[in-house]
Amino acid sequence: MIAIRHLTILGSTGTIGVNTLDVVARHPGRFHVVALTANNNAKKMLEQCRHFRPRYAVMLDAASAEGLRLEIRAAGLPTEVLSGVESLEKVASLPEVDTVMAAIVGAAGIRPTFAAAGAGKHVLLANKETMVMAGRIFMDVVKQNHATLLPIDSEHNAIFQSLPQNFSGDLGAAGVRRILLTASGGPFRQLSLSSLGDVTPGQACAHPNWVMGQKISVDSATMMNKGLEVIEAHWLFDAAPEQIQVVIHPQSIIHSMVEYVDGSVLAQLGNPDMRTPIAHALGFPERIETGVTPLDMFKVARLDFEAPDFKRFPCLSLAYQALAAGGSTPAVLNAANEVAVESFLRCRMPFTAIPAMIEHVMEAVSRKDIATLDDVLTADSAAREAAHEWLACLV
Ligand code: NAD
Ligand code: MG
Repeated sequence: MIAIRHLTILGSTGTIGVNTLDVVARHPGRFHVVALTANNNAKKMLEQCRHFRPRYAVMLDAASAEGLRLEIRAAGLPTEVLSGVESLEKVASLPEVDTVMAAIVGAAGIRPTFAAAGAGKHVLLANKETMVMAGRIFMDVVKQNHATLLPIDSEHNAIFQSLPQNFSGDLGAAGVRRILLTASGGPFRQLSLSSLGDVTPGQACAHPNWVMGQKISVDSATMMNKGLEVIEAHWLFDAAPEQIQVVIHPQSIIHSMVEYVDGSVLAQLGNPDMRTPIAHALGFPERIETGVTPLDMFKVARLDFEAPDFKRFPCLSLAYQALAAGGSTPAVLNAANEVAVESFLRCRMPFTAIPAMIEHVMEAVSRKDIATLDDVLTADSAAREAAHEWLACLV
């Protein structure tokens, strides 16, 4: 007899949220959706409420919540519509919820993700920015409140699957030498360096292997995504920076690997489809169906590997630098990156200005020690301010 899981899905209208609901819908009776949340996409939220009939729907935006409330009432649905950050925190920590999918994009996800961990939930972590901004204190909150952390990022989920089942958090004790973090290299891996300044948001968002939200797509194109994932792996698995090797693997079939002291390398493979890591975490420790196309090795035929090119992808170096500096610096890196990506997407600056802005902000905002979530949010605000000032001088 399988215990039903009671879910809150933070960011249900996004790519991860939609894939999560796709897996949930394949297992009637196994999952009960208690709450869904979104920023302002009331149309998609209404559709999801019709299908999953949650107790709560939260729209961050008050006007979107008001519109949704009328539609929900007209449709005769049992859903209560809430709004604001406090409501996101509330539905992430409801007593009747045991599992929270943390899939809001960016720093906006940090408060509700902390709320879920603080309430001792099973936290399915897609929102890597929380880990980058506040890794140490987030891991403390997880431990102190006996929360369970399951990685959704495909690489970290692959590493989790390739570690021993009883992994205690000590790589040395588990006989692990290194983590091999794979990266596709994104859409600009082979573009001439002189053309990088002219790429458009549309080109940057056209990832060769994955369909993702806009922010993470641009992060993949700059390889900041891999930089954020190095920091995420550091905190999740207590891996020293020199134990994390980025490996370019353009096919995105191997989702990451773990190298052991005896020379063994264990990997997790599969077609690039986020429903696999999502289902792994939703069903854990059981395996459940996903609808993912099985991997056809004959069709794949070959797997390639390359060393990362730090000249082409300066964001990767900046992330390693932020990890080494510690304290508030990773939060500063993250905030500067969010402003840079947004500015590029709005055509306010070229693609190549993304690392330039981040580098400037990392120099301009001095490093502070981090003891609380408020310290993290202060560093985040200071970095956003410095980034906007830099942009104002640029345009
Ligand atoms: P997305 O842009 O498709 O969706 C983001 C979701 O967050 C939406 O539901 C949106 O309504 C909500 N949201 C946005 N801003 C918000 C705000 N200020 N307050 C509250 N909610 C807000 O993003 P995505 O691709 O689904 O990515 C979500 C997270 O998962 C990111 O942290 C990303 O790095 C991570 N992730 C995504 C993938 C992927 O394949 N898409 C893979 C690994 C990790
Ligand atoms: Mg990833």
